[in-house]
Amino acid sequence: MIKCYQSKNEIGMPTDEDITLINKYTLKTLTKDDVFCFSVILCDNDIDRDFERFDENALKTLEKLFVGKTGILNHSMKSEDQNSRTYKTQLITDNSRKTCDGLPYTYLKAWCYTVKSEKNESFIRDIESGIKKEVSISCASDNRICSVCGENHCNHIAGRKYNGERCYKTITGITDAYEWSFVAVPAQRNAGVTKSYKKEKSMENILKSIKEEKSLTLSENELKKVSDYIENLKTKSADGEKYRLSLCTKIKSYFSLAIPEISESCVDDMIKNLSTDSLEALSKAMKAKANTVVPITSQLYTEENSDDNSNSQFKF
Ligand SMILES: [Zn+2]
Repeated sequence: MIKCYQSKNEIGMPTDEDITLINKYTLKTLTKDDVFCFSVILCDNDIDRDFERFDENALKTLEKLFVGKTGILNHSMKSEDQNSRTYKTQLITDNSRKTCDGLPYTYLKAWCYTVKSEKNESFIRDIESGIKKEVSISCASDNRICSVCGENHCNHIAGRKYNGERCYKTITGITDAYEWSFVAVPAQRNAGVTKSYKKEKSMENILKSIKEEKSLTLSENELKKVSDYIENLKTKSADGEKYRLSLCTKIKSYFSLAIPEISESCVDDMIKNLSTDSLEALSKAMKAKANTVVPITSQLYTEENSDDNSNSQFKF
């Protein structure tokens, strides 16, 4: 899941405490002049545009999990886009502000640093000028509890009204936090909390990615989708193989009636590489051909009544 938050960046020189924390993550000891520090709001407890909210425990877990996590650009995992690291987080309650349903507003603030370098110059300028301020976080959770029925999985749709109450989902049971990212926001977008999901890939898109990408990361659900897809293909393939075999058997019997001079193994060789469509066409044609030589219905009749038939032949 990815959630986006509009953030007021706090920019400043790191304190002694900051630089000590930052140096936990560096190989070389950095000085205050080496780094650019800023803060972002990662998430909060308000009901967002998608009618979802984090509960207090989720926020507390995220507070712990986000320390040390990287900040990236547009959720790109390319190493050149990983240019910031979170060195401190804090859950802050702003009693002067309430959530839309009247709770004290609580948000998760993260302090981050990036190394001052030529490569990071424009990135730092974008933060200073307020161009980069919308942040989204990527995390995983076990539960989305429904406000209407209290269940984790139900048919109530977030945002719809049930008995006059608008349904929202509470995200709880955070299992992991991956990264946060600055995201590009169209200028006309309303300020405030926004959110987007890392949409689950459709099977079609997974297959496309397998073809086009060098490496691929799939979620648990996506992996299940791939596994189900393969199982389904196996079943279909077994059914298809059975059908092909039955077509081949028919074709061989039609050949033996229509052109008995061609041996069964020769027919086998001729048809083994044909597509199912071609086998169907050949079967139809050979059936018609065989029918002109020996009417198939009477042949079947004869086969089924072979005792009588053999008797009658003997009578000749
Ligand atoms: Zn429900």
